[in-house]
Amino acid sequence: MQRLPVSLGDRSHEVVIGHFEIDALADAIAALAKKNSGLAILFDGSLPRHSPRVEALVTALHKRLPKVASLALTSGERCKTFTELEKTCEWLAQSGFDRGAMVLGIGGGATTDHSGFAAAVFLRGVDSVLLPTTLLAMVDASVGGKTAVDLGAGKNLVGAFHQPRGVFCDLNFLDTLPAREIAAGMAEVVKAGLIADAPLFERIEAETQASPELSRAQLERFIADSVRVKIDVVCSDERESAGRAILNFGHTVGHAIETGSDYGLLHGEAVSLGLIAALKLGHALGINDASLVTRTAAVLSRLGLPIDLENHVDEEVLSHIDVDKKRRSSAIRYVFVPKLGETLIRDIELPELKRLVLAIPR
Ligand code: NAD
Repeated sequence: MQRLPVSLGDRSHEVVIGHFEIDALADAIAALAKKNSGLAILFDGSLPRHSPRVEALVTALHKRLPKVASLALTSGERCKTFTELEKTCEWLAQSGFDRGAMVLGIGGGATTDHSGFAAAVFLRGVDSVLLPTTLLAMVDASVGGKTAVDLGAGKNLVGAFHQPRGVFCDLNFLDTLPAREIAAGMAEVVKAGLIADAPLFERIEAETQASPELSRAQLERFIADSVRVKIDVVCSDERESAGRAILNFGHTVGHAIETGSDYGLLHGEAVSLGLIAALKLGHALGINDASLVTRTAAVLSRLGLPIDLENHVDEEVLSHIDVDKKRRSSAIRYVFVPKLGETLIRDIELPELKRLVLAIPR
């Protein structure tokens, strides 16, 4: 079990990573709830089909807390709408939850984003605790306090910063996660290595060379290392006034591909393509070596992630950069990796960025 502190004054909490017994997990969650107040459990509606752990945990929490109620959310990204958020808030109110209540979100990044946002806005803010069940949610979405729902105009355009009271990464949930979702989560781990942890990147490189199949023990170490990177960045710039922007490495073009592509790519798959775009762009501008592009492409490809920009980037796809949140007036704060583990931010005018990305040698 690893306990990683997130030091943010009165919003401090821990990210705990390990293989939990249900009773231990219920004890830890119940210890964060306020005595005699309620616990509202929001879970990805398809999860109980994959894992009996959700029901077992709900039962164990009922035994420990005076008021527990649970709600199955629409599964996956479809829960991140205002309509679904309204349903959740209506349910919280009708179930009689008060200001002392705590929301527990159990699921992938979509569920933790929805749950965190519901907690941020219900009665102007109640506590939340997150139990991410996908690799992507463990290494990224549940850490850092960003919560959001989507708009027709783009993903994550309405949200709030709301730090949870605790995050529990229960690795048992990864047993039922499809290989494609594991690979998608690894894209964010590769990103963490590239921007801030060269030894992490080198370990992924060496271990995927030995075998592309990753063991539970390897995943556990990758999760802890990338969560550490995210915590360090978030603690230095909680609200993304400057430093936190480095977490967006690969995400400017990645987001555009995710929104504009017809291929139904997962978030992590789009990020994989975005990482390649950022490194190729960096090489074209003389910021990073060609070898970093080659090494990263080889790692992502061994993980089963897409790297074929030529099939995913065109003018139409890049038009989706326009609503990117990293945009400041007409310029984009674009993140580069000049050397493994280091970052550089440059403002690039949007038309120039599009021209450069389309001109990347394929
Ligand atoms: P997701 O929540 O849609 O989950 C992916 C799929 O896995 C879903 O179909 C879900 O039902 C299924 N699933 C979840 N847990 C499972 C398990 N243990 N076994 C089997 N199936 C399981 O997607 P995601 O990839 O976890 O997260 C993507 C979301 O996270 C996006 O909405 C993205 O915007 C958000 N995100 C947020 C942040 C942040 O800082 N808040 C960071 C990165 C990503």
